[in-house]
Amino acid sequence: MERSLEELEQIVRGQICRVCSDRKLDGSCGLEDPGTCALFSLFPQVARAIQATHSDDICDYVRAIREQVCTICQQQAADGSCETRDSVACALDAYLLLIVDAIEEATGRKFDRPVGSVAAQPVFPLRSN
Ligand code: SF4
Ligand code: SF4
Repeated sequence: MERSLEELEQIVRGQICRVCSDRKLDGSCGLEDPGTCALFSLFPQVARAIQATHSDDICDYVRAIREQVCTICQQQAADGSCETRDSVACALDAYLLLIVDAIEEATGRKFDRPVGSVAAQPVFPLRSN
């Protein structure tokens, strides 16, 4: 199913912001500067990385995000570390399972992730190292 980038962003906003721990009671983003949310400030790259990955293993999506998004994110240090990620304050990292599911569902693509796989477990911050 073809979806524009704007449509995909609206779908992801609807599903992720409402469960995000940084969301305020009135529904707005609670970050001091909402523009720093890497999920949406880099959404075109996020969507491209996820759509170019075809796997039932969530680790492949983590790798794609690290390579295609974190490398251009201003919050990543030169050595590849990220304080925002380490403090579980990056919505993209913390909710990646839900983001992948939302984008795949919206584009009519769904992979069977066996029970017991990382992807079948509850949301938690993902680490690639
Ligand atoms: S931090 Fe990002 S995901 Fe969370 S409420 Fe703000 S814009 Fe939405
Ligand atoms: S994990 Fe860090 S480097 Fe990667 S997108 Fe989030 S804030 Fe940026």
